[in-house]
Amino acid sequence: MRTRFAPSPSGLLHIGNAYSALICQQWQQHNHAELLLRIEDIDHNRCKPEWITAIFEDLEWLGIPFSTPILQQSLRTAHYQYALDQLQNLGVIYACNCTRKSIQAEIERMGVAPHLDDPHIFYPGTCREQHKEETANTAWRLNIEKAHALLNAELSWKDECQHYPVNWQQQSDPVIGRKDIGFSYHLASVVDDAEQQITHIIRGEDLRPFAPLHRILQSLLQLPEPTYIHHPILCDMQGNRLCKRHHAPTLQSLRQQGQNVQQLRERLYQSMANHLWNHGDFYSAIAD
Ligand code: GLU
Repeated sequence: MRTRFAPSPSGLLHIGNAYSALICQQWQQHNHAELLLRIEDIDHNRCKPEWITAIFEDLEWLGIPFSTPILQQSLRTAHYQYALDQLQNLGVIYACNCTRKSIQAEIERMGVAPHLDDPHIFYPGTCREQHKEETANTAWRLNIEKAHALLNAELSWKDECQHYPVNWQQQSDPVIGRKDIGFSYHLASVVDDAEQQITHIIRGEDLRPFAPLHRILQSLLQLPEPTYIHHPILCDMQGNRLCKRHHAPTLQSLRQQGQNVQQLRERLYQSMANHLWNHGDFYSAIAD
């Protein structure tokens, strides 16, 4: 059995990332499994080499060793292009030249239900039938209807307890090839989970809505089916998600402040009971 930790070097790792990494390690040890690392750095606009270096330093400090090889997505674009070509040969993707603004305008014109008005989630299908020419500004979208017709099967994804049927109606032609960086997280991650032979994908609950899409891509690309384990996101005592936006303390800053790493691990283990992180208490512990 194998799992992986797949951080994006778009900033320094913070307490929320450490929490996720520890959950992976705990599962690995409990199951005598392997734990692999993947650096998800396809987004060259947001990722920096110094943040990759920091990931290695932070994880070593945190006491989380990984099996090799370590995958770095920015070195694997040929594999993602190959997968995109496969989807194109299957006739299930199409070129889309819409902008976020034009999608929003179309959604307003259609007057669709308010919960469908997020252009990230809902795409009104503007380019689906139009056979747009590929330009420098082209994204590639998955044609959900065609994918459904092609797979023509009861598709499901699974966690450790049960199978969940893929609800095709909830899917909305997602971007698989981004116009800015060529590929989407979805495509790169399913290709790499197969490459790393991951049997159990452990990741935050925020990514759970994408499990059906990932299953569809695996099925189209004839990749193995993994088991998903989505863990709750660590929050502060006010219920805010511990992330960069909410100024979650970084591991680098804690290390530089002389934080005892065993104590940090203990605190994170204790947080697993309710997925809450008690900042104040922790800082007074640093001061002691
Ligand atoms: N790179 C993603 C992140 O840092 C995790 C993706 C995954 O585990 O599939 O949130």
